[in-house]
Amino acid sequence: MNTSTQLIPTTLPLQDRSLLRDACYINGQWVKANSGAMQSIHNPATHELVGRVPICGEIETRDAIQSAHLAMQEWSAGTAAERAKVLRRWYELMLENMNDLAVILTSEQGKPIIEARSEVKYGASFIEWFGEEAKRMYGDVIPTHMKDRRLIVLRQPVGVVAAITPWNFPIAMITRKCAPALAAGCSMVCKPSPETPLSALALAELAHRAGVPPGVFNVVTGDAIKIGGEMTRNELVRKLSFTGSTRTGVLLATQCAATLKKVSLELGGNAPFIVFDDADIDAAIAGAIISKFRNSGQTCVCTNRFLVQAGIHDTFVEKLSHAVVKLKVGNGMLEDTIQGPLINQHAVEKVEAHIADALKQGARIITGGKRHSLGGTYFEPTVIKDVTSAMRMAREETFGPVAPIFKFSTEAEALQMANATEFGLAAYVYTKDMGRAWRVTEQIETGMVGINVGLISTEIAPFGGIKMSGIGREGSKYGLDDYTELKYMCMGLS
Ligand code: NAP
Repeated sequence: MNTSTQLIPTTLPLQDRSLLRDACYINGQWVKANSGAMQSIHNPATHELVGRVPICGEIETRDAIQSAHLAMQEWSAGTAAERAKVLRRWYELMLENMNDLAVILTSEQGKPIIEARSEVKYGASFIEWFGEEAKRMYGDVIPTHMKDRRLIVLRQPVGVVAAITPWNFPIAMITRKCAPALAAGCSMVCKPSPETPLSALALAELAHRAGVPPGVFNVVTGDAIKIGGEMTRNELVRKLSFTGSTRTGVLLATQCAATLKKVSLELGGNAPFIVFDDADIDAAIAGAIISKFRNSGQTCVCTNRFLVQAGIHDTFVEKLSHAVVKLKVGNGMLEDTIQGPLINQHAVEKVEAHIADALKQGARIITGGKRHSLGGTYFEPTVIKDVTSAMRMAREETFGPVAPIFKFSTEAEALQMANATEFGLAAYVYTKDMGRAWRVTEQIETGMVGINVGLISTEIAPFGGIKMSGIGREGSKYGLDDYTELKYMCMGLS
């Protein structure tokens, strides 16, 4: 192994420069790629070089898996309280270093620094929560069916976990996986997105300082196909946890089938945001802004479609447009920025293509609609009305700062439109009628529903989707299930 402890020179305003790493973290060591190949990471706001990370492949991934396999034996044999103590320290270190983690995150991802700090807190909350949950990983005693038998169910760690994560939440998407995994007694090898690997490496540095034993948590950066190929082929890996697009999720699940790995998939969405005539319109506008424009529209639970009832439609369009023009677009490092740049040119092109398709078919722009005068990957926060189910933005995730507004007349029609998608992650409903809130919640085909709220994510509730939005749940008391296996013991008393 090619090891390294060298720090890269940086202009980032960091208190602790040793959080910015240029090597992978394998078996407790900072490691370069065997080939020596490196990839540069650029700030999407300024295009400046932020850092460099190794381009690893199968060999380094195999090393990481092997070390995770060996490390897990001792880690899982310890008590839950011992693991909780280490996780608690990791959580505290994340909060102590919140500002530096947020600076690294914003520099490679672009989101406003305020949102980055929130993500660090949100990400850390999973480590705290699952450290505590580890102590409640109960088994069961089943009333016996025979006088001389006793039936017991144990919950045991599933084994080495491979995690592949996206760029939109570079910290939280990792901690949602590693916290339950490590709490349950598993070890993990994580491949972060090539857009945002520096946040993952900073997390690894803090894991090291917290006393996570070598091999228990590993980060391998580099070639997705090679790393993902080894992760899904290797028999020592017993579970894959993936967050990203549906297309990649389906591919990885298929690759895992040959070795029958357990799979958790957190995939794409197409969230409807339904506003009924009886809604508190100002609350709906506030919810719409947070649910649509957080992270410049690049969250999986982002509203993708606003479905607004005819009686309130025109007022909603007007009020939403007034709120949207006030969103300050700029470099995420500035404290007053509300909306940063999109992650890359490909993302901008997708947003443009969706808008062009909608306009061609009769939709009308109320505000925004084009690249921002700041240039680069900045895009104007956009409201577009007269959108119909024939348009691309009705079916596909736009993943950008575009609020398309559809009109409906009846509750039945709203439900039919909301469910007319292959995705089923999140939905939002604004109404004062509690009977309707229950009816719609029960009939809507999503894993999560916000009633009169636009922000629903928390470590204490189960996060996940149905249909093509995924398999499994992250966070909450249910979040440990995906990282454990049940073992049934039948004891004869003779
Ligand atoms: P993506 O293109 O699917 O990539 C996600 C991760 O998978 C990246 O690390 C990527 O690395 C890797 N990857 C891609 N192809 C691979 C392969 N063949 N083998 C192994 N790894 C591979 O998704 P994204 O654009 O980064 O993320 C945005 C998507 O994630 C959206 O659809 C969003 O809705 C979804 N998301 C879902 C949730 C949720 O909880 N449901 C949360 C956040 C985001 P490379 O970039 O190197 O290919």
